[in-house]
Amino acid sequence: MANNRFTIDNIEIKRGQRLRINIDMGSIYDFTDVKMPVEVIRSKKDGPTLFVSSTIHGDEINGIEIARRLLSHKALKNIYGTLIVIPIVNIFGFNDRSRYLPDRRDLNRCFPGIKNGSLASQLAHKFMSEIVLKSDFGIDLHTGAFHRSNFAQIRADISNKKTLELALAFGAPVIVNSNLRDGSLRAAVMQSEIPMILFEAGEALRFDENNIKIGVDGILRVMREIGMIKSRQKIRHKKTFIARSSSWLRAPRSGINMPRIKLGSVVKKGDILSEISNPLGDHKILVRAHESGIVIGMSLLPLTNKGDALFHIAFEKEKKIPDSTLINDYYDNIDPVNAH
Ligand SMILES: [Zn+2]
Repeated sequence: MANNRFTIDNIEIKRGQRLRINIDMGSIYDFTDVKMPVEVIRSKKDGPTLFVSSTIHGDEINGIEIARRLLSHKALKNIYGTLIVIPIVNIFGFNDRSRYLPDRRDLNRCFPGIKNGSLASQLAHKFMSEIVLKSDFGIDLHTGAFHRSNFAQIRADISNKKTLELALAFGAPVIVNSNLRDGSLRAAVMQSEIPMILFEAGEALRFDENNIKIGVDGILRVMREIGMIKSRQKIRHKKTFIARSSSWLRAPRSGINMPRIKLGSVVKKGDILSEISNPLGDHKILVRAHESGIVIGMSLLPLTNKGDALFHIAFEKEKKIPDSTLINDYYDNIDPVNAH
Protein backbone atom coordinates (compact mmCIF):
# COMPACT_ATOMS: atom_id res chain seq x y z
CA MET A 1 0.00 0.00 0.00
CA ALA A 2 2.85 2.34 0.84
CA ASN A 3 4.01 2.44 -2.80
CA ASN A 4 0.82 3.96 -4.13
CA ARG A 5 -0.69 7.40 -3.88
CA PHE A 6 -2.24 7.58 -0.42
CA THR A 7 -5.21 9.84 0.21
CA ILE A 8 -7.73 10.38 2.99
CA ASP A 9 -10.82 12.47 2.23
CA ASN A 10 -9.16 13.51 -1.07
CA ILE A 11 -6.06 14.86 0.67
CA GLU A 12 -2.82 13.24 -0.38
CA ILE A 13 -0.29 12.21 2.24
CA LYS A 14 3.13 11.93 0.64
CA ARG A 15 5.94 9.68 1.81
CA GLY A 16 7.74 11.29 4.72
CA GLN A 17 4.76 13.50 5.60
CA ARG A 18 2.91 13.82 8.89
CA LEU A 19 -0.48 15.46 8.35
CA ARG A 20 -3.58 16.37 10.31
CA ILE A 21 -6.72 15.93 8.30
CA ASN A 22 -10.20 16.94 9.36
CA ILE A 23 -12.53 14.52 7.59
CA ASP A 24 -15.73 16.23 6.56
CA MET A 25 -18.72 14.71 8.40
CA GLY A 26 -21.39 17.15 7.22
CA SER A 27 -23.03 19.63 9.55
CA ILE A 28 -25.46 19.87 12.49
CA TYR A 29 -28.76 21.77 12.78
CA ASP A 30 -27.18 25.21 13.10
CA PHE A 31 -25.05 24.56 10.00
CA THR A 32 -21.86 24.14 12.07
CA ASP A 33 -19.49 21.85 10.19
CA VAL A 34 -18.61 18.56 11.87
CA LYS A 35 -15.11 17.19 11.33
CA MET A 36 -13.39 14.00 12.40
CA PRO A 37 -9.76 14.84 13.26
CA VAL A 38 -7.23 12.31 12.00
CA GLU A 39 -3.44 12.28 12.13
CA VAL A 40 -1.49 10.39 9.50
CA ILE A 41 2.21 9.60 9.66
CA ARG A 42 3.50 8.20 6.39
CA SER A 43 7.08 7.03 6.43
CA LYS A 44 9.47 7.18 3.51
CA LYS A 45 10.17 3.55 4.32
CA ASP A 46 7.86 0.77 3.22
CA GLY A 47 5.76 -1.00 5.79
CA PRO A 48 2.18 -1.82 6.71
CA THR A 49 -0.65 0.63 7.32
CA LEU A 50 -2.15 0.54 10.81
CA PHE A 51 -5.20 2.43 12.03
CA VAL A 52 -5.72 3.18 15.73
CA SER A 53 -9.24 4.38 16.45
CA SER A 54 -11.03 5.41 19.62
CA THR A 55 -14.40 6.60 20.85
CA ILE A 56 -16.69 4.80 18.43
CA HIS A 57 -18.87 5.02 21.53
CA GLY A 58 -18.89 8.76 22.18
CA ASP A 59 -18.50 8.57 25.98
CA GLU A 60 -15.59 6.08 25.97
CA ILE A 61 -12.87 8.69 26.17
CA ASN A 62 -9.92 6.81 27.73
CA GLY A 63 -8.66 5.93 24.25
CA ILE A 64 -8.45 9.62 23.33
CA GLU A 65 -5.67 10.05 25.88
CA ILE A 66 -4.02 6.85 24.62
CA ALA A 67 -4.12 8.32 21.09
CA ARG A 68 -2.73 11.68 22.25
CA ARG A 69 0.17 10.08 24.12
CA LEU A 70 0.87 7.76 21.21
CA LEU A 71 1.06 10.75 18.85
CA SER A 72 3.68 12.45 21.02
CA HIS A 73 5.76 9.29 21.49
CA LYS A 74 9.32 9.50 20.19
CA ALA A 75 9.04 6.04 18.62
CA LEU A 76 6.86 7.55 15.88
CA LYS A 77 9.79 9.58 14.55
CA ASN A 78 11.18 6.52 12.86
CA ILE A 79 8.44 4.20 11.70
CA TYR A 80 8.00 1.99 8.67
CA GLY A 81 4.74 2.23 6.76
CA THR A 82 1.78 4.42 7.67
CA LEU A 83 0.05 5.08 10.98
CA ILE A 84 -3.45 6.57 11.02
CA VAL A 85 -4.72 7.74 14.42
CA ILE A 86 -8.37 8.67 14.90
CA PRO A 87 -8.94 9.78 18.51
CA ILE A 88 -12.70 10.33 18.14
CA VAL A 89 -14.71 8.38 15.59
CA ASN A 90 -18.16 9.18 16.99
CA ILE A 91 -17.67 12.92 16.99
CA PHE A 92 -21.43 13.52 17.42
CA GLY A 93 -21.77 11.35 20.55
CA PHE A 94 -18.52 12.72 21.98
CA ASN A 95 -19.78 16.30 21.92
CA ASP A 96 -22.94 15.11 23.65
CA ARG A 97 -21.02 12.92 26.18
CA SER A 98 -23.14 10.10 24.87
CA ARG A 99 -22.38 6.58 23.69
CA TYR A 100 -24.81 7.01 20.82
CA LEU A 101 -25.46 9.26 17.87
CA PRO A 102 -28.15 11.95 17.86
CA ASP A 103 -30.44 9.49 16.05
CA ARG A 104 -29.99 7.14 19.07
CA ARG A 105 -28.15 4.58 17.03
CA ASP A 106 -25.11 2.71 18.29
CA LEU A 107 -22.37 3.32 15.73
CA ASN A 108 -20.84 -0.06 16.52
CA ARG A 109 -23.96 -1.78 15.18
CA CYS A 110 -24.00 0.19 11.91
CA PHE A 111 -20.86 -1.06 10.12
CA PRO A 112 -19.98 -1.25 7.26
CA GLY A 113 -22.53 1.51 6.71
CA ILE A 114 -24.21 2.96 3.65
CA LYS A 115 -23.22 6.18 1.89
CA ASN A 116 -26.74 7.58 1.90
CA GLY A 117 -28.04 5.76 4.98
CA SER A 118 -28.86 7.07 8.47
CA LEU A 119 -26.45 9.48 10.14
CA ALA A 120 -24.75 6.56 11.93
CA SER A 121 -24.61 4.56 8.71
CA GLN A 122 -23.05 7.46 6.80
CA LEU A 123 -20.41 7.90 9.51
CA ALA A 124 -19.67 4.15 9.51
CA HIS A 125 -19.38 4.16 5.71
CA LYS A 126 -17.04 7.13 5.64
CA PHE A 127 -14.83 5.63 8.35
CA MET A 128 -14.73 2.29 6.54
CA SER A 129 -13.96 3.73 3.11
CA GLU A 130 -11.52 6.49 4.15
CA ILE A 131 -9.61 4.69 6.92
CA VAL A 132 -10.27 1.00 7.42
CA LEU A 133 -10.14 -0.24 3.85
CA LYS A 134 -6.86 1.64 3.34
CA SER A 135 -5.26 -0.20 6.27
CA ASP A 136 -3.62 -3.60 6.74
CA PHE A 137 -4.22 -3.82 10.52
CA GLY A 138 -6.41 -2.11 13.10
CA ILE A 139 -6.64 -1.45 16.83
CA ASP A 140 -9.88 -0.05 18.22
CA LEU A 141 -10.00 1.44 21.74
CA HIS A 142 -13.04 1.13 24.05
CA THR A 143 -13.96 1.33 27.74
CA GLY A 144 -16.69 -0.09 29.93
CA ALA A 145 -20.03 1.70 30.24
CA PHE A 146 -21.10 4.47 32.59
CA HIS A 147 -20.47 3.35 36.24
CA ARG A 148 -19.03 0.10 34.98
CA SER A 149 -15.30 -0.49 34.62
CA ASN A 150 -13.37 -3.01 32.58
CA PHE A 151 -10.06 -4.61 33.51
CA ALA A 152 -7.53 -4.07 30.71
CA GLN A 153 -8.31 -6.69 28.09
CA ILE A 154 -8.07 -7.43 24.40
CA ARG A 155 -11.16 -8.74 22.69
CA ALA A 156 -10.46 -10.67 19.57
CA ASP A 157 -11.48 -13.66 17.54
CA ILE A 158 -8.69 -15.95 18.69
CA SER A 159 -9.58 -18.64 16.16
CA ASN A 160 -7.99 -16.29 13.59
CA LYS A 161 -4.22 -16.84 13.78
CA LYS A 162 -3.23 -13.35 12.67
CA THR A 163 -5.62 -11.70 15.12
CA LEU A 164 -4.34 -13.89 17.95
CA GLU A 165 -0.76 -12.86 17.11
CA LEU A 166 -1.73 -9.17 17.37
CA ALA A 167 -3.58 -9.83 20.63
CA LEU A 168 -0.59 -11.62 22.17
CA ALA A 169 1.80 -8.92 20.98
CA PHE A 170 -0.34 -6.20 22.60
CA GLY A 171 0.34 -7.79 25.98
CA ALA A 172 -2.81 -6.86 27.93
CA PRO A 173 -3.27 -9.02 31.05
CA VAL A 174 -6.33 -10.74 29.57
CA ILE A 175 -7.43 -11.75 26.07
CA VAL A 176 -11.11 -12.56 25.78
CA ASN A 177 -12.25 -14.51 22.78
CA SER A 178 -15.31 -12.74 21.55
CA ASN A 179 -17.54 -13.59 18.68
CA LEU A 180 -18.18 -11.06 16.00
CA ARG A 181 -21.33 -9.06 16.50
CA ASP A 182 -23.45 -8.03 13.54
CA GLY A 183 -22.86 -4.43 12.53
CA SER A 184 -19.72 -4.01 14.64
CA LEU A 185 -16.57 -2.49 13.24
CA ARG A 186 -14.74 -5.69 14.10
CA ALA A 187 -17.16 -7.82 12.05
CA ALA A 188 -16.90 -5.47 9.06
CA VAL A 189 -13.12 -5.33 9.30
CA MET A 190 -12.76 -9.09 9.61
CA GLN A 191 -14.97 -9.55 6.57
CA SER A 192 -12.46 -7.41 4.70
CA GLU A 193 -9.77 -9.76 6.03
CA ILE A 194 -7.96 -7.00 7.90
CA PRO A 195 -6.78 -8.31 11.30
CA MET A 196 -8.11 -6.09 14.07
CA ILE A 197 -8.09 -6.22 17.86
CA LEU A 198 -10.19 -4.29 20.34
CA PHE A 199 -8.73 -2.92 23.59
CA GLU A 200 -11.22 -2.50 26.45
CA ALA A 201 -10.14 -0.79 29.66
CA GLY A 202 -11.59 1.52 32.28
CA GLU A 203 -15.00 3.17 32.38
CA ALA A 204 -16.90 5.75 30.35
CA LEU A 205 -16.13 9.47 30.79
CA ARG A 206 -12.94 8.79 32.78
CA PHE A 207 -9.21 8.70 32.21
CA ASP A 208 -7.34 5.90 33.96
CA GLU A 209 -3.57 6.24 34.13
CA ASN A 210 -2.72 2.53 34.32
CA ASN A 211 -5.00 1.71 31.43
CA ILE A 212 -3.62 4.59 29.38
CA LYS A 213 -0.08 3.24 29.90
CA ILE A 214 -1.11 -0.30 29.01
CA GLY A 215 -2.85 1.03 25.89
CA VAL A 216 0.10 3.10 24.61
CA ASP A 217 2.55 0.32 25.41
CA GLY A 218 0.32 -2.27 23.72
CA ILE A 219 -0.01 -0.28 20.50
CA LEU A 220 3.78 0.23 20.31
CA ARG A 221 4.27 -3.49 20.92
CA VAL A 222 1.87 -4.32 18.06
CA MET A 223 3.76 -1.86 15.84
CA ARG A 224 6.94 -3.79 16.61
CA GLU A 225 5.19 -7.09 15.90
CA ILE A 226 4.07 -5.95 12.42
CA GLY A 227 7.40 -4.34 11.54
CA MET A 228 6.46 -0.66 11.88
CA ILE A 229 8.98 -0.14 14.68
CA LYS A 230 12.30 -1.90 14.38
CA SER A 231 13.99 -3.10 17.49
CA ARG A 232 17.04 -5.22 18.08
CA GLN A 233 15.28 -6.83 21.00
CA LYS A 234 12.86 -9.55 20.13
CA ILE A 235 9.37 -8.85 21.38
CA ARG A 236 8.72 -10.91 24.47
CA HIS A 237 5.15 -11.94 25.02
CA LYS A 238 3.78 -10.99 28.42
CA LYS A 239 1.92 -13.44 30.56
CA THR A 240 -1.64 -13.22 29.40
CA PHE A 241 -4.73 -15.07 30.53
CA ILE A 242 -6.60 -16.25 27.45
CA ALA A 243 -10.29 -16.60 28.15
CA ARG A 244 -12.37 -18.58 25.73
CA SER A 245 -15.59 -17.23 27.15
CA SER A 246 -17.07 -14.81 29.67
CA SER A 247 -20.39 -14.06 31.33
CA TRP A 248 -22.00 -11.51 33.63
CA LEU A 249 -23.22 -12.30 37.10
CA ARG A 250 -26.47 -10.46 37.85
CA ALA A 251 -27.69 -9.13 41.19
CA PRO A 252 -29.89 -11.71 42.92
CA ARG A 253 -31.70 -8.91 44.77
CA SER A 254 -32.11 -5.12 44.87
CA GLY A 255 -30.23 -3.16 47.52
CA ILE A 256 -26.85 -1.61 48.25
CA ASN A 257 -24.00 -3.56 46.74
CA MET A 258 -20.61 -3.62 48.52
CA PRO A 259 -17.93 -5.40 46.46
CA ARG A 260 -15.34 -7.43 48.36
CA ILE A 261 -13.01 -7.91 45.41
CA LYS A 262 -11.26 -5.69 42.88
CA LEU A 263 -11.19 -5.69 39.12
CA GLY A 264 -8.69 -8.24 37.89
CA SER A 265 -9.21 -10.52 40.91
CA VAL A 266 -8.84 -14.20 40.26
CA VAL A 267 -11.81 -16.01 41.77
CA LYS A 268 -13.01 -19.55 42.22
CA LYS A 269 -16.58 -20.63 41.75
CA GLY A 270 -18.41 -19.95 45.03
CA ASP A 271 -16.04 -17.17 46.23
CA ILE A 272 -17.75 -14.16 47.78
CA LEU A 273 -17.68 -11.20 45.39
CA SER A 274 -19.91 -8.73 47.21
CA GLU A 275 -22.73 -8.38 49.69
CA ILE A 276 -26.09 -6.75 49.10
CA SER A 277 -27.97 -5.30 52.05
CA ASN A 278 -30.70 -2.79 52.82
CA PRO A 279 -30.03 0.92 53.66
CA LEU A 280 -29.76 0.09 57.41
CA GLY A 281 -27.15 -2.59 56.75
CA ASP A 282 -29.24 -5.69 57.45
CA HIS A 283 -30.81 -8.37 55.34
CA LYS A 284 -27.35 -9.12 53.93
CA ILE A 285 -26.96 -11.63 51.18
CA LEU A 286 -23.67 -12.73 49.71
CA VAL A 287 -23.05 -12.68 45.98
CA ARG A 288 -20.85 -15.60 45.00
CA ALA A 289 -18.89 -16.25 41.80
CA HIS A 290 -20.84 -18.40 39.35
CA GLU A 291 -17.67 -19.44 37.52
CA SER A 292 -13.94 -19.66 38.24
CA GLY A 293 -11.89 -17.10 36.34
CA ILE A 294 -10.88 -13.44 36.31
CA VAL A 295 -13.15 -10.51 37.07
CA ILE A 296 -12.81 -8.44 33.88
CA GLY A 297 -15.68 -6.04 34.46
CA MET A 298 -17.72 -4.79 37.41
CA SER A 299 -20.37 -2.30 38.38
CA LEU A 300 -19.04 0.65 40.37
CA LEU A 301 -22.48 1.90 41.37
CA PRO A 302 -23.50 0.68 44.84
CA LEU A 303 -27.22 1.12 44.06
CA THR A 304 -28.39 -2.12 42.57
CA ASN A 305 -31.62 -3.48 41.20
CA LYS A 306 -32.28 -7.17 40.99
CA GLY A 307 -30.96 -8.34 37.64
CA ASP A 308 -28.32 -5.60 37.25
CA ALA A 309 -25.05 -6.88 35.83
CA LEU A 310 -22.57 -6.80 38.73
CA PHE A 311 -19.48 -8.80 37.79
CA HIS A 312 -18.14 -9.93 34.42
CA ILE A 313 -16.07 -13.08 34.76
CA ALA A 314 -13.82 -14.42 32.01
CA PHE A 315 -12.91 -18.09 32.11
CA GLU A 316 -11.19 -20.79 30.17
CA LYS A 317 -13.39 -23.62 28.99
CA GLU A 318 -11.26 -25.98 31.06
CA LYS A 319 -11.95 -23.82 34.15
CA LYS A 320 -8.23 -23.65 34.83
CA ILE A 321 -7.38 -21.11 37.52
CA PRO A 322 -4.60 -18.72 36.51
CA ASP A 323 -1.78 -17.75 38.80
CA SER A 324 -3.19 -14.86 40.81
CA THR A 325 0.21 -13.26 41.36
CA LEU A 326 0.53 -12.94 37.62
CA ILE A 327 -2.35 -10.51 37.48
CA ASN A 328 -1.43 -8.57 40.61
CA ASP A 329 2.11 -8.08 39.38
CA TYR A 330 0.95 -6.85 36.05
CA TYR A 331 0.29 -3.25 36.93
CA ASP A 332 3.68 -2.87 38.62
CA ASN A 333 5.52 -4.16 35.60
CA ILE A 334 4.53 -2.10 32.62
CA ASP A 335 7.74 -1.92 30.67
CA PRO A 336 7.79 0.86 28.14
CA VAL A 337 8.80 -0.11 24.64
CA ASN A 338 12.24 1.09 23.63
CA ALA A 339 11.98 3.72 20.97
CA HIS A 340 14.00 2.00 18.28
ZN1 LIG B 1 -17.36 0.68 23.33
